[in-house]
Amino acid sequence: MNLASKTEIKKILHRYEKHPQKKWGQNFLVDSNILHKIIEFAELSPEDYVIEIGPGIGVLTQEIAARSRGVLAIEIDSGMQQVLVETLAEYNNCHLVISDVLKVDLEQELSRSFALEKPTLYKVCANIPYNITTPIIFQLLEKGSHLEYALLMVQKELAQRIKAKPGSKDYGLLTLMLQYYARVEYMMDISRTCFYPAPEVDSALIKIQPHSSTRQLKNEAGFKSLVRRAFQMRRKTILNICWAEFRADKDFIRSYLEKLGLDSNSRPESLTLEEFICISENWPESREI
Ligand code: SAH
Repeated sequence: MNLASKTEIKKILHRYEKHPQKKWGQNFLVDSNILHKIIEFAELSPEDYVIEIGPGIGVLTQEIAARSRGVLAIEIDSGMQQVLVETLAEYNNCHLVISDVLKVDLEQELSRSFALEKPTLYKVCANIPYNITTPIIFQLLEKGSHLEYALLMVQKELAQRIKAKPGSKDYGLLTLMLQYYARVEYMMDISRTCFYPAPEVDSALIKIQPHSSTRQLKNEAGFKSLVRRAFQMRRKTILNICWAEFRADKDFIRSYLEKLGLDSNSRPESLTLEEFICISENWPESREI
């Protein structure tokens, strides 16, 4: 069954008396060329376990299932269950969980679904709902200790934010945290016309590959807290941000930043990942002020 076609998808939706739900970002992939390119980029092997977020009608799920050992598909819309039972009937290596992905412990669910005895590497491949892209990415980065890589279709603007360089308006928390945790590759653009219904924005396919060894910071919580605060106060100077964060004397902070070679008047969007790390890692724990 070639599901990646507008006619086919409309037929199935009609048969199950379903309408694409905007609140869940339901824009189904209907372009089989793009589908096959995504699958090529996913570089799946028969040994792979794959997690798919938001299978929808199962367009991508079928292709993943045909090329992998097991697919864990997590879908929020319980009305899709019946549809997926039909579209995935040929595959006995798919496990469907009806839930909000943000409430699922993905690694635990994967182990349970496939009775894995020890933590196993897995890939994520998904056309994810655009309104929760950022929380999904944070979830994968912060909790995905066995994630090999995630191939994600995201809104094009978001892909640009991810690539942004210091000094540009797109540069922000997401850019920095992604750099901290992973390497991101921009794979291709995907036009809005490849989806039904066509969304109001174009998409891009990105590949997020966590760094092979996680960086050992003395104070990771302090670094994350500083970066979060910096971008909540992105129009403020780094001096004021550090003052709000560390609650120390401003002159002390000014000379601290100077010693690190930083201009205390710079704004967070001009600071690199290394500079943020430098600020938080060198901050004296007990200081005289
Ligand atoms: N992968 C399919 C569908 C993409 S549309 C395709 O490419 O055709 C996005 C899908 O994510 C929809 O099926 C939607 O119901 C689902 N979804 C939206 N929010 C979700 C959430 N919080 N958790 C899991 N699935 C979600």
